[in-house]
Amino acid sequence: MEIRRRDFFKLSGAMVATTLIKEDKTAEAAHAPEVSEDAYGCLIDTTLCIGCRKCEEACNERHKLAKPEESYDEMVVLEKERRPDETSYTVVNKYYPKNVGTLTWQERPTFVKFQCMHCFDPACVSACIVGALTKSPDGPVSYDVAKCIGCRYCMVACPFQIPAYEYHKALTPEVRKCTFCFEYVKDGGLPACAQVCPREAIKFGKRKDLLQLAKSKIKNYPGKYVDHVYGEHEVGGTSWMYIASEPFEEIGFPKLGTDAPARLTESIQHAIFNHFAAPIGLFVTLAGVMGFSNFYKNGKETKD
Ligand code: SF4
Ligand code: SF4
Ligand code: SF4
Repeated sequence: MEIRRRDFFKLSGAMVATTLIKEDKTAEAAHAPEVSEDAYGCLIDTTLCIGCRKCEEACNERHKLAKPEESYDEMVVLEKERRPDETSYTVVNKYYPKNVGTLTWQERPTFVKFQCMHCFDPACVSACIVGALTKSPDGPVSYDVAKCIGCRYCMVACPFQIPAYEYHKALTPEVRKCTFCFEYVKDGGLPACAQVCPREAIKFGKRKDLLQLAKSKIKNYPGKYVDHVYGEHEVGGTSWMYIASEPFEEIGFPKLGTDAPARLTESIQHAIFNHFAAPIGLFVTLAGVMGFSNFYKNGKETKD
């Protein structure tokens, strides 16, 4: 997500306005709770995905999102790298292998489904000064439109460029992102995407079991997978994880460190609010958050 100057000043203006009326709301930008041992997760095996887009369609239908102009049978959209937006909580992208060798399965393109990673210590939750985003100990990061003031700090803070905003709605815009289908999962249901996937490329379950599954696949098929479970440690761990046959930075993933960016956004925010800094301090804060987010995005913060 490219942050333009105009957007920066819009956001900064919102921040100043918010400060004037919400100086005492800092406490609501709370730490995420500890994730439970039995928290839910999903594991995506990109080697199984065939790019059929059934997951996109199922998600769109379950959440009654606006229908895309082109049908889900239209595969040409996969040629363009997309990000989730307010009409698509999840998108599938296609990546071509960089080093084509002998005729092996590795020569096929890799399809990658993206959605909210449901981070353990989410930057979006930390950045939200009114507590509209919350992390459940069960895994999902949920959004409460009734609390949202439309400041869009969550969009700036997310290292995966996930939250989207309904700019086209003048009166009732919302932040939109994958819900983990928690409204179904909490009653024993499945995420629509995992339920529909014809290749079982998306496995839903307890995160700890999925991590074991990922590691055993990597161990049992050493030539097939790179030795990396994306999301095991990135940004402090995420509820959604991936395994793949090539380095993740070659298939659309940002190279991130193991510290949660939430720690920085939160500590800057708390310092500013607690000491009643002048509005100019808030401009600096936001610039810092944006810079930090871009720093992550550009893959410079890595401990690998
Ligand atoms: S991926 Fe972004 S939107 Fe999702 S939980 Fe993490 S920080 Fe929040
Ligand atoms: S978990 Fe639900 S909301 Fe998230 S991508 Fe899958 S179907 Fe969409
Ligand atoms: S439904 Fe499964 S196989 Fe089809 S694009 Fe989505 S993840 Fe890939």
